[in-house]
Amino acid sequence: MQVIKNFERIGEENAFAVLARANALAATGKSVINLGIGQPDFPTPENIVEAAVKALRDGKHGYTATEGIPELREAVANSLSQRYNTQVDSRSVMIMPGGKVTMYAAISLFGQPGTDILYPDPGFPIYKSMIDFTGANAIAMPIRESNAFGFSADEVLSLITDNTRLVILNSPANPTGGVTPKHEIDRLVAGLAARPDIAILSDEIYDQLIYDDEQHTSLLEYPEIRDQLIVLNGWSKTYAMTGWRLGYSVWPDKLFEPVRKLAVNAWSCVNAASQYAALEAITGPQDAVAHMLSIFDERRIATVAALNELPGVSCITPKGAFYAFPNITQTGWQAKKLASTLLEETGVAIIGGPDFGALGEGYLRLSYANSTPNILEAISRMHVFLENQGPPG
Ligand code: PLP
Repeated sequence: MQVIKNFERIGEENAFAVLARANALAATGKSVINLGIGQPDFPTPENIVEAAVKALRDGKHGYTATEGIPELREAVANSLSQRYNTQVDSRSVMIMPGGKVTMYAAISLFGQPGTDILYPDPGFPIYKSMIDFTGANAIAMPIRESNAFGFSADEVLSLITDNTRLVILNSPANPTGGVTPKHEIDRLVAGLAARPDIAILSDEIYDQLIYDDEQHTSLLEYPEIRDQLIVLNGWSKTYAMTGWRLGYSVWPDKLFEPVRKLAVNAWSCVNAASQYAALEAITGPQDAVAHMLSIFDERRIATVAALNELPGVSCITPKGAFYAFPNITQTGWQAKKLASTLLEETGVAIIGGPDFGALGEGYLRLSYANSTPNILEAISRMHVFLENQGPPG
């Protein structure tokens, strides 16, 4: 058997490996606090669960249209149009089996040897993994603490060449919690609109997890790039539905048919009951979303304050998502070594910045999707550890 070469280049998401190790340690009786994995610690709201149960009881057991049930596509289009004061046509909406699958589809449409795809570094690891898989050149767009972890329009535009086929953007961002300000997005959009041959994948999965009265700027607000724009979004983070495997994306007309065909070949459709749950999520009461957001906000403040008390650590206040990305350069530790040592010795599961790209060295990612007492206990264990143990030799 000879598996194609591309599989020598495909990467992974280390958060899942850390989760497995954390669970294995917990199974031996060790006290483990998991600030590694990026998923809300809340259950899916009851009305959403009930909608799925009802769908199953009502006999929604068969295939649906590949692109999703019409009422859900309509509801997504209406919700986006209202949220971003724009016009989204339901015919451009595709229901996907998870947010991640939109990445897979978009990168598959544009990645091949000889082409460049720009991606954020540090950023969600699957962008680079999938680009490498296709054989395209993965061009890192630096995301800097000095820029509050937003992207810089000038820097992104300076990386564009004649070979660039796709630019991947993510705000609010994983792993940093950074939110790129509107003026920066305005300037980037102006530059990208002048290059209609380049597609844009805007990963907006954290669009509703944003703090301090910041407004999310969706790239859907810019009609001048609509023919180039793919928007990735979904229910996983906003509605605590990571295990349902549900997502949606908005596609330009000319890309819709290729992605629909990819879906027919790969997954046929998203499971029917989940689609009815998703419909209830966006058309039903939204108070659970506001409630979760206010709890994340309290934890965010507590997490950053506690991190800034650690010796050699400094942490800027993230404006979105549910991650803190403290700078640990003054501790003298390499980030991945510190993360793995902390897990083994103190039971605190966190992720080293380099798992999100080479420019993540010097940082850790903590997910504050855990209770405040657990977060404070984890950071206090880190405190004791850092006070007593310096980096190896
Ligand atoms: N995009 C970003 C930036 C993420 O952080 C994640 C999940 O962690 C996803 C997409 C994938 O979401 P889903 O679980 O819906 O596939």
